[in-house]
Amino acid sequence: MNTPSASQSSVPLPEGGGGHRPGVILVAHGSARSAASAEPVLALAKGLRDRGFPEVRSAFWKEEPFLHQALELTRSGTVAVLPVFLSEGYFSSTVVPRELGLRYGDNHVGGRLVHLLPPLGVNAGLTEIVAARAQEKVPPDACTSKALLVVLGHGTQRDPASAGTVLDVCASLSREGKFARVAPAFIDQDPLLANVLEDAREPVILLVPFLVAAGWHGGTTVPRELGSDSQGARQRIVYTEPVGTHPALVELAETLLLDKALPPEPSRDDSASPPLTRLESLLAERLARSTTAVLIQVMIRVEEHAVHELRHVDDDGIDPRHLTDIASATALGTFARHRGDGGPRPLRTAADLPRGWRFRASCVRDLIEALVEVYGSALVHWHLGETDELSRVSFREATADQTGGYANLTQIEARVVEAAMHSVCDGLPCLRTRLWRVEDTVTGVKGQQKDAADRLVVPCPRPCPILLSGVLDLIAESKS
Ligand code: SF4
Repeated sequence: MNTPSASQSSVPLPEGGGGHRPGVILVAHGSARSAASAEPVLALAKGLRDRGFPEVRSAFWKEEPFLHQALELTRSGTVAVLPVFLSEGYFSSTVVPRELGLRYGDNHVGGRLVHLLPPLGVNAGLTEIVAARAQEKVPPDACTSKALLVVLGHGTQRDPASAGTVLDVCASLSREGKFARVAPAFIDQDPLLANVLEDAREPVILLVPFLVAAGWHGGTTVPRELGSDSQGARQRIVYTEPVGTHPALVELAETLLLDKALPPEPSRDDSASPPLTRLESLLAERLARSTTAVLIQVMIRVEEHAVHELRHVDDDGIDPRHLTDIASATALGTFARHRGDGGPRPLRTAADLPRGWRFRASCVRDLIEALVEVYGSALVHWHLGETDELSRVSFREATADQTGGYANLTQIEARVVEAAMHSVCDGLPCLRTRLWRVEDTVTGVKGQQKDAADRLVVPCPRPCPILLSGVLDLIAESKS
């Protein structure tokens, strides 16, 4: 891949404001079927960490950590939430605010200031990134001014507004006049890509996917369509990498985050601290009482000098020389996104964490960071279960305000939901302890701790999106 590194970016970007760097949560779609879908978002999170943002988390609609858990993953008193969507549409306008319980702009949540920013893609800086993507792939014997630039968006028949950003980018690049012509095309609405290519007469077509990640369409259906296209014989089609993987996106995100000039941390007493901060003393106390504990499938063992060793619980007793040392919490999180066979792990608390590794944390804070990387909100939920602070949500309550394809869930019969719970929660199997039922919720996590002295029992306080998708799959199967 021949793309510039962040420091070499050729894209001119607006000056960012100085000052305080808030905690950051990147929210995105993700995928239960492909771990690759979230990779550009995780790369963006790493880029922001490298630029000095002290706490950067990611949360997703289709994989864990889920959107509704996002605020539980941060300690910062001031948090900026940046939706990593390239256009305004159903997800940015409906799903993100609903799942995070936020409105766009400032929100005051439990003594913290949380600012929800507009989606990344609606910033004018994206136009230059599209142009850069096209220009870096212009064949040496071709001329940009004679090429057709096609900006390929997803689009959807359900929400015409989602095409707006692509149309604006095309209009802006047309005015600049660098290319012979600039045309929009879409995967799921008119004008479809096949029709745009059919009408093209330019000798070179630069096709730039206006997508966060290549994903199923950008990585499979579009290349397949291009491969079978007879246009290829008389025109050269250059298919670039998606806009969402361009390194200049980090600089753009940094500028947007700093431009808001969010205030520094408010001073708080301990009782107002977020659960991720408060659980530190509870976990330290727990590990002082017994030098081992098990969270889901991770065994925590306290070694000398307050070093904590983590390894798969089934690797207990294995000589460390036969395990692979993982160097950082982030690397452990990346490792935990895949099963042993390389497949994705969209549900982190499923019993499919690979074995054969170990990680050593030098203090409780580092230990917590590693467990958040592996299990998202699980440790916070253990803590809130222990302190009886966990809000429980029944299936009926969780689905009452769903929209789009999930709106069908409001009327679903209890027996169908229970069948999905059996196949999704118990079938994986998910190692959380369910505290919800179809119509109501249950209590009692603390009592279960006695049954398994070294286990940190992790409650499931509400149905997760993977369970909701499982219910929809059962409905679809029953109709086919
Ligand atoms: S709903 Fe089921 S699968 Fe999802 S987190 Fe809870 S117990 Fe696990």
